[in-house]
Amino acid sequence: MRDFYEILGVHREATQAEIKRAYRKSAKKYHPDLNPGDQEAEQAFKEVSLAYEVLSDEGKRRNYDLYGEDSLKDGFSSQGGFGGFGDIFGDLFDIFGGGFSGNYASQKQNAPIRGGDIRADVQLEFKEAIFGTEKKVTIRRTEICRSCDGKGAKAGTDVHRCETCHGTGQVRESRQSAFGRVVQVVPCPDCQGKGEIIEEPCSHCHGSGREIFSRTIDVHIPKGVNNKSILSMPGEGHHGENGGPPGDLYIYISVKEDPIFKRQGNDIYIDFPVSYMDAVLGAKIEVPTLDSMENFDLPAGTVGGKVFTLKGKGVPRLQEKGRGDFHFRIEIIVPQKISDRQRELLEELRGESPSVAKKERKGFFDRMKDWFED
Ligand SMILES: [Zn+2]
Ligand SMILES: [Zn+2]
Repeated sequence: MRDFYEILGVHREATQAEIKRAYRKSAKKYHPDLNPGDQEAEQAFKEVSLAYEVLSDEGKRRNYDLYGEDSLKDGFSSQGGFGGFGDIFGDLFDIFGGGFSGNYASQKQNAPIRGGDIRADVQLEFKEAIFGTEKKVTIRRTEICRSCDGKGAKAGTDVHRCETCHGTGQVRESRQSAFGRVVQVVPCPDCQGKGEIIEEPCSHCHGSGREIFSRTIDVHIPKGVNNKSILSMPGEGHHGENGGPPGDLYIYISVKEDPIFKRQGNDIYIDFPVSYMDAVLGAKIEVPTLDSMENFDLPAGTVGGKVFTLKGKGVPRLQEKGRGDFHFRIEIIVPQKISDRQRELLEELRGESPSVAKKERKGFFDRMKDWFED
């Protein structure tokens, strides 16, 4: 067997860093995947691997320096002895770019990847939510680089298929270990898993093929949206990678409150003030709804707190036909200041209707009596 130092092409005082560097270079050169069917390369790869296994371990290296090949024999036991094939695989992983996890095999690096989703927040006025509107939102979005059209290569330079991995971005690595044959799929060392080789990277995106843009998007707010509605705009998210589809844009809606109109689902509620005269006598009133003033016949003898409903005058149903209802609750206004003339008339009125008050009051006291006697 050739001398391990000779195999790796390093001098006998080589540092671990030099040994590692030499090993990486040779391992790439003789890798079985890069030399399919080449017996010589396979043999060389085995030798290089064994040489590295020994020289990269200070204990084994010392034994090798002292005892030569004998130190490799089964049962040879100075300190250290044999074993530790695990390390060599760790080093192999290092060669191929690093940073990838053990389950690499399931995810090709050049496989299409869907772009990420983007969230944007939009605040609406109360009425905008009810009747819909058009808004503009500005987002930051990753897109295909304009300069290189996503290829990552400088204009006029070549991008060609990686011959090492035939454009797949991955290579199978098969080797004999102490535990049998081990096959592993790893990113292609020549193209870093991209499947293609860029001669000169695009100066605009530094070869990533992607660029971040600030984009202003027109958002159609449909009528009937509510606070916490989320609108999705498919395909307006980040652009995909390797030809993958773009992500979506999600518009998170918040709606300002209105001092008068209160919304519950698609129904609207308001408090509507009427004079006690109108409440007693009945009146033609005008009720302010979302769209217009509605004429309404207030019946005579309307009590405070009574709720009237205008069907179909509420909020348009989102993505459906029809509208919710509009409810107004009667609030009877008692004037805090009256003129002498008004006082005179009211006194006269009171004189006219003592029997009603008495009757009402009698009923009330009877009920209270029942309450306390129970
Ligand atoms: Zn570019
Ligand atoms: Zn490749």
